[in-house]
Amino acid sequence: MPAFPFSLNDPIQHHGPLPKISDVVIIGGGVIGVSAALFLAKRKISVTLIEKGRIAAEQSSRNWGWIRKQGRDADELPIVIEACRLWQELAAECGEDIGLNRTGVTYLANSDKQMAGFESFMKLASAYDLDTRLLDSGQTASLFKGMSRRFAGSMTTPSDMRAEPWLAVPALARLAARLGVTIIENCAARTLDLSSGKVSGVWTEAGRIETSTVLVAGGAWSSLFLRNHGVSIPQLAVRATVAATEPMAEIHAGAAAGADVAFRRRQDGGYTLAPGSHRLYLGPDAFRHATKYLPALVAHPFGTRYSPAAPEFYPDSWSTPRSWTADAESPFERMRVLNPAPEQSSLDAISRNFKRLFPQFQTVRLKATWAGMIDAMPDIVPIVDRVEAVTGLFVATGMSGHGFGIGPGIGRVVSDLIQGNAIGHNLNRFRLSRFTDGSRIRPGPAI
Ligand SMILES: Cc1cc2nc3c(=O)[nH]c(=O)nc-3n(C[C@H](O)[C@H](O)[C@H](O)COP(=O)(O)OP(=O)(O)OC[C@H]3O[C@@H](n4cnc5c(N)ncnc54)[C@H](O)[C@@H]3O)c2cc1C
Repeated sequence: MPAFPFSLNDPIQHHGPLPKISDVVIIGGGVIGVSAALFLAKRKISVTLIEKGRIAAEQSSRNWGWIRKQGRDADELPIVIEACRLWQELAAECGEDIGLNRTGVTYLANSDKQMAGFESFMKLASAYDLDTRLLDSGQTASLFKGMSRRFAGSMTTPSDMRAEPWLAVPALARLAARLGVTIIENCAARTLDLSSGKVSGVWTEAGRIETSTVLVAGGAWSSLFLRNHGVSIPQLAVRATVAATEPMAEIHAGAAAGADVAFRRRQDGGYTLAPGSHRLYLGPDAFRHATKYLPALVAHPFGTRYSPAAPEFYPDSWSTPRSWTADAESPFERMRVLNPAPEQSSLDAISRNFKRLFPQFQTVRLKATWAGMIDAMPDIVPIVDRVEAVTGLFVATGMSGHGFGIGPGIGRVVSDLIQGNAIGHNLNRFRLSRFTDGSRIRPGPAI
């Protein structure tokens, strides 16, 4: 069975060459780095984006493809509303079919208590005039063809969208390249070149680029990269398993999640299925930051399972070096693409649970299975900020399991942050110093 929706053996699309100088260097070719590059290029700023493996080969292509306003943290919501508009504009601009559709997102509730839990988002939805509404048990049943189970009800947002991540982010990267961004795949950033507390360049495995401005958008690798320069962020990553079915009859055009299975219809007529839990490998960072994660653990106790150690070369493996220099191979070159194995027990459970929910399907045939490492912060919202201690260094990371949908919004925001322009949103919740300034950690909605 194919392990992934697109082949990592396909030829590299973006070769560079490495420029000597660039206004901005972006480290990481996921949805965040690519979107930020796009918006900077639209302002005629010279941008070099370096990616250690392939554009979108990590989380940004492995995700479920949900673009949702529903269930968002209050401070993320205005940015994701903007992102939904930007997705539509960018889809038109890139001139490729990225599978963008307004087919809605629905959360299924097992109990009245869970229904009551939706109330706080309903207040937010009403403040932002969203089309989110609560459905009773009968209305919920009528949204899905042949659903065997009666839920207590649901919360649904018909204007929420879906897209095919493995088409969308590479398409945005091609658009960025057409706008003048230099993209170089298979090129790891090893270290920053710093002079008197300021960024003066980036050392990559292919040489140095002179620059005064760097954006770290390295997904699950950001914390490792930054720590080598004395910048600590309490970021961890969890493994999440996903499966894609063969095309099958349509039971619902959008995306929905219940306690034991989440599903989304894809453009090819299959469903992308996933379980309701993920796995954390316990490494040095997990222990170092454990106390910061206690509030999230208390708020969402059942979502995470644990393993004692990550495989070799993962960002938080016990054997991964925590410091290195520019002149030797770095941990980023040792793991070009973080490609975790999917968990067989989760695959069995999601096929079984989907079939139980829709018994009209005699069999649920999987055409691909994979997993991704989701990078998360203790309060389940990202860091989008400048690093005060290092002039010229910016960070946009820790998207905490929902960075695909909000990606273009964060890209636009961070591009204006870098330029010193008005942002249009309050970024206080996403500041780097919240983990060190004595603030209480306030978890947002679960991953
Ligand atoms: C299974 C799964 C399901 C998800 N479902 C959804 C969903 O439905 N909706 C949603 O909104 N979000 C979802 N997410 C989350 C979403 O995919 C991520 O939040 C988002 O893709 C993060 O984007 P990013 O650009 O920050 O990181 P990434 O996509 O991980 O990109 C970071 C890139 O940086 C590169 N890199 C790192 N270090 C270096 C270096 N030193 N030099 C060069 N390159 C480097 C990496 O190779 C990588 O390609 C899901 C995630 C997973 C794994």
